[in-house]
Amino acid sequence: MRVDLHIHSALSPCASDDMTPHNIVNMAKLCGLEMISVCDHNTLGQQRMMAEVAQKLNMGYIFGVEVQSIEEVHLCIYFKNYEKAMEFDSWLKMNLPSISNDVRYFGNQWLFDDKDEVIGSEEILLLQSVTQSIDVIAQKAHQCQGIVSLAHVCDKANSILTQLGFIPQNLEFDLIEIKNQDQKEWVQKMHPWLKEVLWVRNSDAHYLQDIDLFEEDIDEEKWEALWRKAL
Ligand SMILES: [Zn+2]
Ligand SMILES: [Zn+2]
Repeated sequence: MRVDLHIHSALSPCASDDMTPHNIVNMAKLCGLEMISVCDHNTLGQQRMMAEVAQKLNMGYIFGVEVQSIEEVHLCIYFKNYEKAMEFDSWLKMNLPSISNDVRYFGNQWLFDDKDEVIGSEEILLLQSVTQSIDVIAQKAHQCQGIVSLAHVCDKANSILTQLGFIPQNLEFDLIEIKNQDQKEWVQKMHPWLKEVLWVRNSDAHYLQDIDLFEEDIDEEKWEALWRKAL
């Protein structure tokens, strides 16, 4: 199954304003993807409309969010159950410092309806750290039947390797996000205990043209096993 489980909508201030639900799903279809997840920074506010549009256009969809921990590590969290995803969203809201977004500096945080019309915007700045550590975030995610991915593990900013220097063996995560095979080999060499983990290639697209078709399928057996454990 061809997937891209890390795409930003225009609700993320750093993403392009044309990252609307229809544009994202149509671009994913053009790229031959079968399942996507939009992971906006620290909010699941766009998830219901994303899922509705994906369903209408016959695209697989998983609820997602990219959380920035107090250590400034990015984790993508995925959910299959909408109510549980919203429970996690409420918890995130309680842990997000109430700093207003400066649109001129950070960009728009637009919310869309199922016709790509802007119906509002998030007033609190989404591009900041929540007040919880990676361990607590992972624990809460699992309580809400979610699964946890170490986002862009080899990126030069906000990855677990830039922030901590290594992957802690006692951290309860489920997937590792990479950009290519070289990154996988490098991370594996650094952490020989990583054997059964699921690796996934995502675009972390902030612009429509960043959504791309990857050559490898996700390991569906491992993916389904993660959900059997989570649900
Ligand atoms: Zn990130
Ligand atoms: Zn991202």
